[in-house]
Amino acid sequence: MFQRSMTYTEDEDSEVWIQRIDKREEELHHGRFEWARIYAESLKSPHIQHIADFRGPIEVKALAGRGGGRGIVAPADIRVGQLLVVEKPFASVYPFDLPTGEKTVSFNLLTNRVGKSCETVLISKVMERIWENPEEHAAVYNLFAGSEYPRPSLTRASPTTFSATQFPFQSAVDIDIMHLESIISYNAFCPRGRTGTESDKEEFDSPSALYLLASLFNHSCVPNAQWTCFGDVMIIRATKTIAQGEEIYIPYTPGVMPFNKRQEALNKHFPSGCPCPLCVDDRADGMDNCKQREILLERMKETKSIQGRRRLLSQIETTYAPSRKTLRPEMSSANDRLANAIRAELNAYTFELPEATFRSHVKELLALDIAALKSIGIMFKDQLPVGDQLPCLVSVDYFIMKCLSAASSCLVLHDRDRANDWVEAAESGETWICSCILDDRTTFLFAALKNGLGGDKVLFKLLFGKSVDAMSMREFVYSVLG
Ligand SMILES: [Zn+2]
Repeated sequence: MFQRSMTYTEDEDSEVWIQRIDKREEELHHGRFEWARIYAESLKSPHIQHIADFRGPIEVKALAGRGGGRGIVAPADIRVGQLLVVEKPFASVYPFDLPTGEKTVSFNLLTNRVGKSCETVLISKVMERIWENPEEHAAVYNLFAGSEYPRPSLTRASPTTFSATQFPFQSAVDIDIMHLESIISYNAFCPRGRTGTESDKEEFDSPSALYLLASLFNHSCVPNAQWTCFGDVMIIRATKTIAQGEEIYIPYTPGVMPFNKRQEALNKHFPSGCPCPLCVDDRADGMDNCKQREILLERMKETKSIQGRRRLLSQIETTYAPSRKTLRPEMSSANDRLANAIRAELNAYTFELPEATFRSHVKELLALDIAALKSIGIMFKDQLPVGDQLPCLVSVDYFIMKCLSAASSCLVLHDRDRANDWVEAAESGETWICSCILDDRTTFLFAALKNGLGGDKVLFKLLFGKSVDAMSMREFVYSVLG
């Protein structure tokens, strides 16, 4: 693929070129990527140029009962955090790619929804690429497009045979637009870049991209792999230990989304409902409880008072069957919303709140961060996250922000009066736990960095520097990071 045909090493340009080839070879064959550089490049433009695709230990297998009749399976044991896929899109469209002042709207007959601008333009971009590269037609048209179209073949189809174009304005292959629209409708991803924060805003002009390999993964709301994007480059990592022969799932829609919204988003993939364990639990809670949970969560947005949000949080808790295990994803948003109300009060009345109230608020913040993490399946022992797992219902960014927030609460408690903390520790043991959290939390942060971000501290500073500054703990965190 990469041939070293240049020999003029004294020529600066050729040296740069050869270095670039070396890097692409490292990426392609060994999955070694300079994440900080790629992230920096993504900030200039999400259409990343200098990166190679990487395919980790995965294989495509025929699987009964799946929409496309196939899925991705582990050919060998996979460890937590292992890099499975780095893939450039076949085509991608961002809002800034759209002609200024123009709104492109389409109505999708499959989903009965108004098409988003970027997704509509994506169809023409994919067509354009196939037009220019007719040999790629087969790979795109071998993606699942719903039951009305022929089932895709197991392996990626061989390049389409095509005859030379006889007329300059005629494609060398048949581009069936309805079929292509259906392919995009089933397979397009929204490649939002990493920001270090979670956003639950659904924008009309969200970016849209088509990936040929990532599209072959099937969905689970509680997946064992998670995808993130640097610009339009998709990165898929294992979030759990995956045994040889096990299917690897990614989420098409976030598992923290309320049940009804999730089912609506997944309806075209699972007309009789998503069969994952989370959806089975939600269904067992009953539709009324799920609906009530969603209404109460919405009401939390409008209710600004701490007391009001506390009340709503306990009401949300009652919508889960007592027999349910700790996985209660909507509780993470509920805990976060109560935490936001407490933070707002702390910020507004920092110097007016009595010391005891201040401390109890900070302790509550810490408890809420821990509860939010527990509700998305992070296991705890003695109030500390344990186990070799990364979050699968949320991005690793959310998880790291929670860890930073918890560390910040602990720091605030310590800085106030260390001696008092020790006295309290003697009484309740709570401050002792906090000091343990500082040590173990940072170790855990390292694990998250290594597994979730590829072990790059430079990248961590780029992604979370501003948040760390906002929490006034730059010195502490950076000294821990080294
Ligand atoms: Zn599900």
